[in-house]
Amino acid sequence: MTGRPIIVWFRDDLRLSDHPALHAAAAGCAPVICLYVLDEQSAPSGPPAARPLGGAARWWLAQSLRALGADVRSAGAALTLRKGAAADVIAGMAGEVDAQAVFWNEIAQAPHLAVADRVAAALEKIDVSSERFPGDLLAAPTAIRNKENRALRVFTPFWKRVQALGDPPKPLPAPNKLAGIAGVASDTVENWQLEPTRPDWAGGLRETWKPGEQAAQARLKTFLDGIKGYATDRDRPDREGTSRLSPHLRFGEISPRQVWHAARFAAAEHPRLAADIDKFLSELGWREFCRHLLFDVPDLATRNLQPNFDDFPWKQDGRALRAWQRGQTGYPIVDAGMRELWHSGVMHNRVRMVVASFLVKHLLIDWRAGEAWFWDTLVDADAGSNPANWQWVAGCGADAAPYFRVFNPILQGEKFDPEGDYVRRWVPELAGLPNKLIHQPWQATPLELAAAGVELGKTYPPIIDHKAGRERALKAYAVIRAR
Ligand code: FAD
Repeated sequence: MTGRPIIVWFRDDLRLSDHPALHAAAAGCAPVICLYVLDEQSAPSGPPAARPLGGAARWWLAQSLRALGADVRSAGAALTLRKGAAADVIAGMAGEVDAQAVFWNEIAQAPHLAVADRVAAALEKIDVSSERFPGDLLAAPTAIRNKENRALRVFTPFWKRVQALGDPPKPLPAPNKLAGIAGVASDTVENWQLEPTRPDWAGGLRETWKPGEQAAQARLKTFLDGIKGYATDRDRPDREGTSRLSPHLRFGEISPRQVWHAARFAAAEHPRLAADIDKFLSELGWREFCRHLLFDVPDLATRNLQPNFDDFPWKQDGRALRAWQRGQTGYPIVDAGMRELWHSGVMHNRVRMVVASFLVKHLLIDWRAGEAWFWDTLVDADAGSNPANWQWVAGCGADAAPYFRVFNPILQGEKFDPEGDYVRRWVPELAGLPNKLIHQPWQATPLELAAAGVELGKTYPPIIDHKAGRERALKAYAVIRAR
């Protein structure tokens, strides 16, 4: 390989396959420098400031960078790690290695776009060209607009429009070989202290996950091989019915178009799976919907999409918030979900809806407090999907659940965890209760409680009466409706 090198700037696209920027760089005869910048300081001039990663996502990032580093090394080059404001680091490095160009995949989100503009401007000043490639979405946010040139706010027409665009481009292969250059200084993942040490609370994450591109591809394959029944099983937290691809997608270890094409291929091979596969792809559509929304509403994590919620009478209740965060609310399905989250950095989608509804509609705590907790504890914490879903549950978002829909944690538990397996796994102190009582231990007789070794108020806490909670929520929400 000859000539001045090309730098490929990696961000939320920690993979080698279907990486348009890397593919273009590797296609020429120039050496390639793969660069990741830990940028904790580039706050764009307007809101929102770049959002620091939460604890669980930092852990994931560390593992994902190690996996990417190993894959880049196997291809013949090295992954360079640097820390600082992206524009300074990248322009500095371009000067240092006499780069001819810097390539990256565009991330169509406000902080990323603003930071990328700064990088391009800094490079222009030193006469280094830059090129951006699409790679993060099935369709560009600018391709799907309503008559007022805004992102669509209702999912079904949005998804129809995405599908009407036809198949996205076929995924690109990983480069067979990468030629790097020697002697480029790099930080190490360990220097960055992304992982918890004192205390090391990441044991559950290590037990649960294998980050990295190869693991993501393997997970997709295993999931598609067993996708039969997804359309119904996806709502069951007691079953392994969903793909568990969300953190891999979040960090770009796999691209949405790789998922799309693999799923379409499976549907063509096995037409009887078409309904399950369509449902799965429409979930991928929700990710897309949330990101398009974020493109239009950069402050999605702080601003109610529906302004009539701005004066909502949220309650300040630190005690109740802490009980919710720790899985000590007295509602088994809620506690199971919150403990699963704390242990493994993830929570089943159905249970996310239940716990979010419980926080917002029973405890009347501002959805932003729940969103912030999820942001810190989820390995898949996503700048679009997290706030968009919280707003959806609270009723102030796009295509939002109607204000009167209050998820009943008992009925939800009985319907979606009928044998109580999910609750028994995460709330073991209730394990001895029979199935019919596991979602409402307060209905058990003293004898039944004693037989199960449960002492309500001692070994397991009660918190708030569901009926009172629902009525209180409806009253507060009626104020909104009257506006
Ligand atoms: P699957 O059922 O296999 O779905 C496939 C993919 O589709 C997922 O990996 C994900 O990328 C996407 N997807 C599925 N459901 C949704 C959805 N409702 N919204 C957006 N994308 C979706 N998802 C995140 O990726 N990050 C978040 O921070 C996040 N926060 C959430 C907060 C709340 C309050 C709620 C109710 C949902 C949230 N979700 C979030 C959506 C959803 O719960 C997860 O994407 C899903 O549980 C991931 O599991 P899976 O990969 O097995 O999903």
